[in-house]
Amino acid sequence: MAAKEVQKKSAGGGKKPSKAKKAYQLYTIAGDKIQRKNKSCPKCGSGIFLAMHKERVHCGACKYTEFLGKK
Ligand SMILES: [Zn+2]
Repeated sequence: MAAKEVQKKSAGGGKKPSKAKKAYQLYTIAGDKIQRKNKSCPKCGSGIFLAMHKERVHCGACKYTEFLGKK
């Protein structure tokens, strides 16, 4: 059992730059406008976002839940 050292790939050529994504990408910047990806809570207002689930959206602040229609 040999302990291998993890070597960083430091290739000079053919290196693909990998952009680190932010943890929360709730916003999409289109030009100079910022668009929200997630829906905002109709009860709490535009400052509170709904958590997106598989078949429903949920507000953590007021427990508002909206079920998405099945297709
Ligand atoms: Zn809410």
